[in-house]
Amino acid sequence: MRFGLDLGGTKMEAVLLNEAGEIVWRQRRPTPSENYEAIIETIAELVGEADRESTQEISIGIGMPGSLSPKTGLVRNSNTQCLNGRPIQQDLESKLARQVRLANDANCFALSEATDGAGAGAQSVFGVIIGTGCGGGLVFNGELQNGANSIGGEWGHNPLAAPRAEELPGPPCYCGRHGCNEVWISGSAQALRATMRPLRGKN
Ligand SMILES: [Zn+2]
Repeated sequence: MRFGLDLGGTKMEAVLLNEAGEIVWRQRRPTPSENYEAIIETIAELVGEADRESTQEISIGIGMPGSLSPKTGLVRNSNTQCLNGRPIQQDLESKLARQVRLANDANCFALSEATDGAGAGAQSVFGVIIGTGCGGGLVFNGELQNGANSIGGEWGHNPLAAPRAEELPGPPCYCGRHGCNEVWISGSAQALRATMRPLRGKN
């Protein structure tokens, strides 16, 4: 059986899949997003519950914001900031006494859609997540394209592809640049614009 967990900024959700890939158990918990140790503890509790649901050894996979540095194994670029700089894989593996697989959440999403979702059968699949930020994952011939820095498909801090004059330089972004995709199309940016000025347009 397989245990999968989506570690989000405000909540985490875990499922247990049987051999047929069907969900046989599901739990959701708020993410203690300011407290790294509490996040490890909550994940361990969920794995413990899943262990009790299963008669066999379960494998563990976790989708998380940010990525593990290929060099140091430490978390980078997570918008759940207490994870950054932490050896989450080591800490979970020593806590749970078994192998844990971790991957960027947008990559998990893109691979899932490319395998049996909206992109099934397509040669190239670009999966986009619009949330707090704007993430992405790229799958080619059924294989995730991780890239040299494990941020393949991430496009939140790329500039607009074809900006109009009035869109330059664009709003400031927390990364230090102006006009990143993230300051235009993330959920947070859209919410901000919607509350700051009335919608203009034909309707
Ligand atoms: Zn940026």
